Amino acid sequence: MAGILDGLGQFGLGNLEGASIFEQPKTAEKDAEGNAVEVEKEEDFLFDKKYECPVCGTQVTARTVRAGKVKLVGTDIDLRPKYQQVDVLKYDAICCNKCGYAALSRYFPHCTDKQAKMVKEQISISYKPVQQSTDLYSYDEALDRHKLALVGSIVKKGQASERAYICLKSAWLLRGKRESLDPSSPDYAKETKELQDQEDQFLLNALEGFKTAIQSEGFPMAGMDDTTVSYLIAALATECHQTDVASKMIAQILTSSSANARIKDKARDLKDILMQELKKK
Ligand SMILES: [Zn+2]
Repeated sequence: MAGILDGLGQFGLGNLEGASIFEQPKTAEKDAEGNAVEVEKEEDFLFDKKYECPVCGTQVTARTVRAGKVKLVGTDIDLRPKYQQVDVLKYDAICCNKCGYAALSRYFPHCTDKQAKMVKEQISISYKPVQQSTDLYSYDEALDRHKLALVGSIVKKGQASERAYICLKSAWLLRGKRESLDPSSPDYAKETKELQDQEDQFLLNALEGFKTAIQSEGFPMAGMDDTTVSYLIAALATECHQTDVASKMIAQILTSSSANARIKDKARDLKDILMQELKKK
């Protein structure tokens, strides 16, 4: 069917032939009483943030979640945050599509001249730019960006905590993707198993990375204080069935004079989970 804007191609504006003349109204859904309610969509929480690539100087535009607009509804035992409207985690890795340098947003601007040289020599030289989404990021796109961030950190010899943090966030993305699968799809069981296996690998790498980092780095580490990192190691060790490590870290938190009541409560919850695990053995 011909659209009413067909023919714009002759002006070089073929990409606008399908433009909608009027903005789409927000999706109206009904609440429990049958009243129409406005549903906020993922794109309503995003804006474009500009960064300067510290490797090649290009201006990078990244979709970013508006701080304070999304509502935290809970956290998993390994501190993965869950938000009501959008999985914020999909928007944390920034990638320069010109030179291939990528990093989590908190690390992106921090790249020394020596590190930039290593990125240029080992990544930029063979990097092939890919078409990037300009509106919403899918889980697969987010996972690709995190892979680029991980390889970027390896190449620039970033700290173990940075790599561990990227592995942790990749594991969380795989969990988010797994939770978003449609249980009625024929491949549901197979895909769930594959995503769980990949998540387990990333959790294990995150655990090993943070264990290395506490031996050699100071705090805050990836924005976390020492008690939070101890708790995270305990949680990851529980998830990876390293019960000795988990028990040791939990005991450390419960006897610490600097740990606050909130983290001690979380450590007690973790201890309960660990005890159940041990009973199963
Ligand atoms: Zn760049």
